Amino acid sequence: MAEVVIIGAGASGMVAAIAAAENGEHHVTLIERQARVGRKLLSSGNGRCNLTNMETELSRYHGAAPAFASHALSLWTPEKVLEFFSALGLMTVTEYGGRVYPLSNQASSVLDVLRFALEKPNIELLCGVTVESVRRKGKRFSLSWEGGGMDCDKLIVACGGCAGSKLGGVMDGYNLLKSLGHSRTSLYPSLTQIRTRPEIPRSMKGIKVQAGVEVFKGKNKISFGSGDLLFAENGVSGTVVFDISRAVATAGEGVSLRVDFFETMSRDEVKDYLARRRAARPEAPAKEIFSGALHSRVGLALCKYAEIQPESPCSQLSEVQLAALASASKTLRLDVTGVSGFESAQVTAGGISTAEFNPMTMESRIVPNLFACGEVLDIDGDCGGFNLQWAWASGLLAGGSL
Ligand SMILES: Cc1cc2nc3c(=O)[nH]c(=O)nc-3n(C[C@H](O)[C@H](O)[C@H](O)COP(=O)(O)OP(=O)(O)OC[C@H]3O[C@@H](n4cnc5c(N)ncnc54)[C@H](O)[C@@H]3O)c2cc1C
Repeated sequence: MAEVVIIGAGASGMVAAIAAAENGEHHVTLIERQARVGRKLLSSGNGRCNLTNMETELSRYHGAAPAFASHALSLWTPEKVLEFFSALGLMTVTEYGGRVYPLSNQASSVLDVLRFALEKPNIELLCGVTVESVRRKGKRFSLSWEGGGMDCDKLIVACGGCAGSKLGGVMDGYNLLKSLGHSRTSLYPSLTQIRTRPEIPRSMKGIKVQAGVEVFKGKNKISFGSGDLLFAENGVSGTVVFDISRAVATAGEGVSLRVDFFETMSRDEVKDYLARRRAARPEAPAKEIFSGALHSRVGLALCKYAEIQPESPCSQLSEVQLAALASASKTLRLDVTGVSGFESAQVTAGGISTAEFNPMTMESRIVPNLFACGEVLDIDGDCGGFNLQWAWASGLLAGGSL
């Protein structure tokens, strides 16, 4: 019997344990530092768990070498992952953009089927145990924790990343793998809120719009997203912000956003629309010229941005001023001051160097019989189920490769 240890009972660790235990010659010990398994999974997708995305492709993944993920993702496609979950009894629905959720709309359904699948004679679960160190002991590994320890023949590190610290995101996985000779790239919070100079977003706090957002580093456009944009006290949030947050987090200083409130219209078309509004309601205050198209506080903010007196009647707006308002609504500039930290980020960009692992098996190229999977590695995905898809694919590959 080979003794297998998996550190971390999150998304990737649980499926790795299930796959490893399919080999009756393995005795699997799954170790989790929190009181229960799958804590982060339970909070994923706002409690709904967006467990995969049917439009998964390599371009949705990032890191120093995203191609590392190619084999795992082609072996464990979203269809195969859903077959795996279906065999465990999970029913799912696919929503817009290929996002897959449990039919129950409850992340707990995903966790439940995994927990039941872990109930096998050759799987042992140790919760509330934090692995503090791992040493090489001949060809084996020796693990220790407060008040205990054990040895094993094969080891999978599935400790996740440091994002979502309230839900258990820690540095442990990076540190344990570093102690075994691995290296790590710089870490950045991703899929998180963007902080900007507060004046403009604060005036529209709580308003959600559908918008296009361009990211500029100096004069160079470095990213673009489209979707829900939510204005907050000190910045912006929403799905479009999650999509561009990685580019912002890794770009350094001098970054700004340009918000387009009228994605399907050119600047001239917006100006024509404003001219028609001016003709229709000449006596209305300028701040109401966007009413019918945008929230009143957005209209007010755009007037201020274009340096137009919000209370002056529309009839007094010149062609130049209409053009300035149209420009403001197509390219409202927000100066970035940073991104929210790891605490509120959904994923860690960066991680243990993938060049040091074999993408066909997830085994270390440095230490035989050592494997890693999930977010601890330098692979992160876009918002929309791509991160859990990577956790399942890499975990199932690691567990099946032992
Ligand atoms: C709020 C939030 C919402 C999210 N929503 C989605 C979503 O809807 N869709 C999506 O695709 N992705 C989502 N993600 C991202 C996704 O949850 C993660 O990418 C994924 O869980 C990573 O899986 P993992 O197995 O690598 O790590 P985790 O799931 O984080 O599991 C790692 C486990 O290892 C344990 N551990 C760490 N160190 C030790 C140690 N020393 N000893 C023992 N145990 C240890 C941790 O406690 C943890 O349980 C979300 C993330 C957050 C924070």
